[in-house]
Amino acid sequence: MKPAPFNYVRADSIEQAVEALAGSSDGKVLAGGQSLIPLLSMRLAGPSLLVDINGIAGLDEVRADSDGVHLGALARHADVLANTAAREVQPLVAAALSHVGHATIRNRGTTVGSLVHADASAEMPLILLLLAGSLDVVGPRGRRTIPAESLYIGPLESSLEHDEVAVEAFFPALPPMTGIAFEEVARRQGDYALCGVGAVVEVDGGHVRSARAGFMSVHDVPVVAELTEHLAGMSLSTQEGRVVLEAAVEHAMGALDPAADVHASEAYRAHLARVLAKRVVAAAFSDATHRAATRPAVGSEA
Ligand SMILES: Cc1cc2nc3c(=O)[nH]c(=O)nc-3n(C[C@H](O)[C@H](O)[C@H](O)COP(=O)(O)OP(=O)(O)OC[C@H]3O[C@@H](n4cnc5c(N)ncnc54)[C@H](O)[C@@H]3O)c2cc1C
Repeated sequence: MKPAPFNYVRADSIEQAVEALAGSSDGKVLAGGQSLIPLLSMRLAGPSLLVDINGIAGLDEVRADSDGVHLGALARHADVLANTAAREVQPLVAAALSHVGHATIRNRGTTVGSLVHADASAEMPLILLLLAGSLDVVGPRGRRTIPAESLYIGPLESSLEHDEVAVEAFFPALPPMTGIAFEEVARRQGDYALCGVGAVVEVDGGHVRSARAGFMSVHDVPVVAELTEHLAGMSLSTQEGRVVLEAAVEHAMGALDPAADVHASEAYRAHLARVLAKRVVAAAFSDATHRAATRPAVGSEA
């Protein structure tokens, strides 16, 4: 099918993009087009205006510093994935990004576009939420920072106003003594996942200090479960630790609402969430203990 007719503005600056959006009640930003163009072509969306931001200079930055990873609105998934400094500062971003679509999708699609698109089956909204990151947006009322916890308000719905442009995402750095893991199950490599789970675990002396797990494709928004209350003080490499982890995951399942579709029944999705959560939290614990054991002693770098 062909898209319905629309007007097109190629913005040269963020101000110009904001101005164009403000003059329309249903205008849409065009970034990589990997989600928007299929929606237009299938006539599942029919905005009267597209504001193309691909000509705005300086929006493609991928920057990693000691605080975390900053991604401009035109940073393509592939550029983020290839950035070794970003991988070192926050390895969970790359771990999840490698599961996003196929190479061609990652070459064009933007990570910020994925965050705004707010698909509960997409990897990056979950990772932003799990890491308590944020999104900076610019609109006619100025610039504001939206914390991830208030970004996802419904299926394919983020809390940006229709006249705001997302300009930068921020993923906080991995703290010391902390490990990560991410796994998903998809019918084929590159497909949207039937279920995906990420985890962040902090250790202290070989025991859990804090732990949380995030779930995608099992609710209409990404969901993060706080597991610290259940797991604090436990070693997850012991039999006792594994039993406690099983109970913690069961508790987390209460916050999920897996739905059936043509690819998976409700029960199968719930099964995947349980199995992946146990595996991924245990893997993040191992990663944390490994990182803690191999961490250079203070002052040894001199
Ligand atoms: C075959 C296929 C497989 C895919 N598989 C996966 C997958 O496994 N996992 C996954 O996560 N994604 C997948 N995707 C989607 C892909 O990751 C997209 O790149 C991403 O969802 C959107 O990024 P984009 O830059 O293409 O945004 P666009 O398609 O240009 O825009 C998407 C939406 O976000 C809005 N938007 C984009 N950027 C901004 C901005 N800066 N400010 C305000 N609004 C903005 C647009 O207006 C639109 O509503 C797949 C896509 C395809 C076609």
